[in-house]
Amino acid sequence: MNQFNTGISFAKEQDALDPLKNFRDQFHFPKIDGKETLYFTGNSLGLQPKITEKYIKEELDAWKNLGVEGHFHGKRPWMHYHKFTKNHLAAVVGARPSEVVSMGSLTSNLHQLMVSFYRPSKKRFKIIVEAGAFPSDQYLFETQLKFHGIDPKEGLIELQPEKGKEILSTKSILASIKANQSELALVLIGGVQYYTGQLFDIESITRAGHEAGAMVGFDLAHAAGNVPLQLHEHGVDFAAWCTYKYLNAGPGSVAAIFVHEKHGENFDLPRFGGWWGNKEDERFLMKKGFQPMTGADGWQMSNVNVLPSAALLASLELFHQVGGMAPLREKSLKLTAYMEWLIDNWINDEKALVDIITPRDPKQRGAQLSLVMNQEGKKVFKALNNANVIADWREPNVIRVAPVPMYNSFQDVFTFCAILKNTLSS
Ligand SMILES: *Cc1c(COP(=O)(O)O)cnc(C)c1O
Repeated sequence: MNQFNTGISFAKEQDALDPLKNFRDQFHFPKIDGKETLYFTGNSLGLQPKITEKYIKEELDAWKNLGVEGHFHGKRPWMHYHKFTKNHLAAVVGARPSEVVSMGSLTSNLHQLMVSFYRPSKKRFKIIVEAGAFPSDQYLFETQLKFHGIDPKEGLIELQPEKGKEILSTKSILASIKANQSELALVLIGGVQYYTGQLFDIESITRAGHEAGAMVGFDLAHAAGNVPLQLHEHGVDFAAWCTYKYLNAGPGSVAAIFVHEKHGENFDLPRFGGWWGNKEDERFLMKKGFQPMTGADGWQMSNVNVLPSAALLASLELFHQVGGMAPLREKSLKLTAYMEWLIDNWINDEKALVDIITPRDPKQRGAQLSLVMNQEGKKVFKALNNANVIADWREPNVIRVAPVPMYNSFQDVFTFCAILKNTLSS
């Protein structure tokens, strides 16, 4: 028995049954020439929640009406603003509130965390990463190694998929960790790979890294808000992510970090300090001697980026209202499987026009599917654009699409596949 079919009535039925259907209306969908677009790039920039404006306006008003006093007065005093995002942020990534803090931006946060968690010695200095990592991460690895006087060719182990494969098997990742255990200092991998959409086995990788005597961190740019995570439970040492992708906090918004509780009171870990990471009760005494706060808070540097934090708070409010990552994941599994099914059975009914490089196993992926256009990819992508579809093009022939469970519908997926099918057969 098949759970899907190719009729639009099926999509309409699913939307009517969807317990999250009302959340779509909480977002602004971009328009082209007055016509609403089909938006499938929540993996790149999440849509704007309608309540975001109100949250930012509140802080603009506080600034307007209170000036510097806004740090201490008003509805949400700026001095404490990073605390307001903590509980919901912790829920999204499966952490304790003290293990997370919103701050800075993703790449600089990773650099900063590597100061503490990448401590190469003569013997143990290698870093295991996935090959084809996001460019910013590649520059991060290269320049961190050089900073420590290590030749990236010596220090970096880039895991390649087996010949003819697009994705890394967990088995091969674990084997590489084991094979390098005497020289391994750090494993730092993306939670969900930005290009293929592969969700890595965070629990097994973390365990293997620890068995090898290494630290284990994750770049969760494409995982946070996309898939349920259990960073605390899985014993991950540290992680960082941006909030403008699945977390809908707006372009370049404030990012966030996770530092496991087991390191939260380790004040011997080297770190780069700033006043916001210093003990709160002595922060304004301007005393000599940096005394870090316990938990993730002790990695803060600067005072809070209040306006983007307001946008983050607004969007986290929706993650809370929706009931957390479990209901989102439940819908996401259906939505992405539906798109996969339509591609396999409707678009490719006669000929393999589109290949999917994202893992077929739903446990190894999030919302995103990465589609290889087997013919005239660029032309197909242009045609999609002309049909008001916003998707993402990656050279040489990949279109990434992410049906986002918070605001995409089954009808969105149906319409996208109908347009793609039409384009490919014309
Ligand atoms: C989006 C993304 C980034 C972006 O980094 P910024 O510092 O926010 O510009 C970095 N790494 C990965 C894996 C990403 O997907």
